[in-house]
Amino acid sequence: MYKVTLIPGDGIGPEITAAARQVIEATGVNIRWEVVEAGAAALDRYGKPLPDHVLDAIRRNKVALKGPVTTPVGQGFRSVNVTLRQELDLFANLRPARNIPNVPSRYQGVDLLVVRENTEDLYAGVEHRVGKDAAESIKIITREASRRIARFAFETARRQGRKKVTAVHKANIMKLSDGLFLESVRSVAETYPDIAYEEMIVDAMCMKLVQEPENYDVLVLPNLYGDIVSDLCAGLVGGLGVAPGANIGLDCAVFEAVHGSAPQIAGQNIANPLAVILSGVMMLRHLGEQQCAALIEEAVREVLAEGRHLTADLGGSATTGQMAEAISRRI
Ligand code: NAD
Repeated sequence: MYKVTLIPGDGIGPEITAAARQVIEATGVNIRWEVVEAGAAALDRYGKPLPDHVLDAIRRNKVALKGPVTTPVGQGFRSVNVTLRQELDLFANLRPARNIPNVPSRYQGVDLLVVRENTEDLYAGVEHRVGKDAAESIKIITREASRRIARFAFETARRQGRKKVTAVHKANIMKLSDGLFLESVRSVAETYPDIAYEEMIVDAMCMKLVQEPENYDVLVLPNLYGDIVSDLCAGLVGGLGVAPGANIGLDCAVFEAVHGSAPQIAGQNIANPLAVILSGVMMLRHLGEQQCAALIEEAVREVLAEGRHLTADLGGSATTGQMAEAISRRI
């Protein structure tokens, strides 16, 4: 029996995590869910968006499935997502972007793995106003975190039988911070002679990804570029509704979709649950439940091929619940 922390989140979070839970349970895997609130629900109830007992629950169970959490723009509390990743030292954000049969996309043969450093860079939260009319956000890059994410990228590449790692940077302009990132990744790359290594400036990378995404394999990036480029990659394979993700540390792992809380469509039962269901598949693999993971993938493939129970973003008119039900029935 596994104990897994389930964080429904807010916005569309509760709807899509309920869908994912239903699909995962349909495989018969023995999971006991410990449900804890973060985000708007926790703020109302406990006065903070990320109460300590949520962190404790993840530390105890070591694995969590999480719905998105809204972050106020420009003011208010610090991002729950960023705090969670930093507090639990979930240093690697893994975001695969692969064409899924029957999910409309302009591209074929895309199979990318975005490996994003998850703890520092401009997300370190070091920012302040300078007088009335200026503000500074400090970009922090360390050799240790850069080497750690690089090792993670190469190890994952090797484990998954991938051929190439591309380090993405802007060291031509940020010579010191991105320069240190690049120097660190390069030194790690030398210890993996079996995997090809190349470097790409982030702006050129964006263009190349749009022109010829099939030529790239594993991308390793500092936090901010990783966030932006992974949404671009999600767009290459059908959009945010189908893009899963994982935040991995040495002790704990938190699985969540790439997308956010989509407040415009929250509460309407129309959000696509696939991104969080596929995050659940990543979670099952992490737990060693390969067979249950494969069962869900096969059921998802069938539902997509049949095309009768798709949400609006995939061109259908099914509700979140109907899509989850259709997947569960095929397991
Ligand atoms: P978003 O990802 O929530 O939405 C972007 C667009 O994609 C919207 O048009 C939305 O309707 C659509 N979309 C997203 N998920 C979908 C789904 N499952 N099915 C169908 N359509 C979907 O991005 P945003 O609007 O920039 O952010 C909203 C909030 O979410 C913000 O407060 C942001 O900070 C937060 N956010 C949280 C996380 C997280 O919890 N990990 C990640 C990203 C953004």
